Amino acid sequence: AFQTVFTYQGSPARVVFGAGTLAQAGAEVERMGGKRALVLTTPEQAATGQALCAQLGTLAVGQFSGAVMHTPVSVTQTAFNEITRTGADVVVAIGGGSTIGLAKALALRTGLPQIAIPTTFAGSEATPILGQTQDGEKTTMTDPRLRPAVIVYDVALVKTMPPALAISSGLNALAHAVEGLYAQDRNPMTSLMALEGIRAMISALPRLKSDSADLQAWAEAQYGAWLCGTVLGQVGMSIHHKLCHALGGGFDLPHADTHAILLPHAVSHVEPAVPELLAPVAELMGTRTAALGLQALAKSLGAPMRLLDLGLTETDLDRAVSLATERPYWSPRPIDRQTMMPLLRRALTGAPAQ
Ligand code: NAD
Repeated sequence: AFQTVFTYQGSPARVVFGAGTLAQAGAEVERMGGKRALVLTTPEQAATGQALCAQLGTLAVGQFSGAVMHTPVSVTQTAFNEITRTGADVVVAIGGGSTIGLAKALALRTGLPQIAIPTTFAGSEATPILGQTQDGEKTTMTDPRLRPAVIVYDVALVKTMPPALAISSGLNALAHAVEGLYAQDRNPMTSLMALEGIRAMISALPRLKSDSADLQAWAEAQYGAWLCGTVLGQVGMSIHHKLCHALGGGFDLPHADTHAILLPHAVSHVEPAVPELLAPVAELMGTRTAALGLQALAKSLGAPMRLLDLGLTETDLDRAVSLATERPYWSPRPIDRQTMMPLLRRALTGAPAQ
């Protein structure tokens, strides 16, 4: 049914998309008035950062390659010292959600503009959201200052993802769009982006899995990731993201794999409450329900299917359910202990989504 009442808030960002766009990074630094860029990466992607610094030449004043998952405040402080030491006037993050998270944390503390150059499909570059950890506790905040001003999407950077990361990261993106479809504050624009993002992802992921040299497939997945991330940045997330945060934060499970496993189960919980909102997904998948389609897709892609394989155990379930049900996010169908225990047990053992 057509949604007759809504509020739409656009997200300002300059998006430079295409094969070879990394070459424009320097021009983008200058375009925003930057003269002294600090390049951020994870330790694993330090060489990518070095290549970017070499390319930027005198526009780069340094590199900080200490970004890690969940943006620990202690790491941000060390990177902040680098900004002070180098007198950087722009931060350039080249990497996945972890590196882009560090850029956001620095922008918040310094007011410096950011250029995000994503190398995964996580979508953080398109959101004003930051999750930080301190003393083992993760807190999430939303602030317009967190949003990167420029995003450079270069397909050459995503196609180096190891296959398992590409698949789980793609399913992570899919989760943003699927939850956007039933978000309380959705609007026709976010639903449009969500469905197109889902279509692009489910078309591209099987192709890039079967032929990792298929540049068209990588580019389409990257386009899908942009749309899915934009949806994440514009509407509130629901049960699926709550479950992922509870398990990620409470048991230190890997971010993208946790998303990949939980999505069909989370969707199976809400689908009976809002079948009309998820029907287009079932239709795209050619399955009776969206949940069944999402699980079949994950399975066909060889994605992890069982929380057991990530290290969660039966004895963890009680605390997992407590974490999932305290301070619940809005959901089209309430989140309670009675339903979450069997749901998480199914996700634990890889049982069919119901
Ligand atoms: P990641 O950034 O943690 O990267 C995982 C690993 O893969 C790292 O070692 C990284 O260096 C490596 N890697 C990344 N791209 C690669 C490539 N192309 N080739 C080879 N190796 C590569 O993973 P992620 O899933 O992108 O990000 C997860 C983090 O981002 C989590 O902390 C999550 O909470 C956060 N996140 C935040 C938002 C938001 O809007 N705030 C959105 C999505 C994710």
